[in-house]
Amino acid sequence: MTQAQYGDFIKGRLLFIEQYCSDHKMEFNNVIRSIEEETFRRVDSDEQKDFLRKKFFGDAVSSAEELPNWVDRVFLEATSQVLKGCQSPLTTSTSRLSCIPFEAARFNAKRQAETIFKIMFKDKTPEEWIRWSFPAVYRKCYGNEAAAKLRIIEFSKKHFGVITDNTNLDKASKIDCSTVIGYMYGALEKLGAGDIAITHKNCLAEAASGQKVCSFDVMFEFPARHVNPFSRAAK
Ligand SMILES: [Zn+2]
Repeated sequence: MTQAQYGDFIKGRLLFIEQYCSDHKMEFNNVIRSIEEETFRRVDSDEQKDFLRKKFFGDAVSSAEELPNWVDRVFLEATSQVLKGCQSPLTTSTSRLSCIPFEAARFNAKRQAETIFKIMFKDKTPEEWIRWSFPAVYRKCYGNEAAAKLRIIEFSKKHFGVITDNTNLDKASKIDCSTVIGYMYGALEKLGAGDIAITHKNCLAEAASGQKVCSFDVMFEFPARHVNPFSRAAK
């Protein structure tokens, strides 16, 4: 990730929490401090704590050059714990069952559609987004090696298979796969798709050995008179 994307990524996570607090009548500043404490409980080294304190919860976000792989997992675990309690699910295998990592990514897709990734949404239909834009977003988040192994299978204009290969990808986890489901869901919603159903039945992201391949089934409907909110014609 570039510095701008890195900063935007953290900003998106914090804006999600702000929105969640507003919707659920929670005090944002208290929630953030509790999440910070929870992240500290989940890391071992002073170096990691220092990173969280200065680069994530501090004011020096833009000075960080890259996001260590453990950060988002720890942050989403802590966020889920504080917002929904320790019994709340951390992962999901279907967009029909929500969890905090899913919701955080869904939120981020919708805001990035209007900010840093606007060009990848503008004038796109839902199927064009899955076919062309999702691989571009994926490359930015996971790098060239993982992007080269990404496969998009088109069963029809409203039914796709998305196959990721997490081999050599340190950040791969079931939580991370839940954010992939959430991001695709939010993006398709933003582009006007309805009845979206994304399932991810067999997750090999945390497999001990072999190819860590994950496949997602993506289905949606779109309105007969499809209006992309980003196209000029819609204005
Ligand atoms: Zn997976």
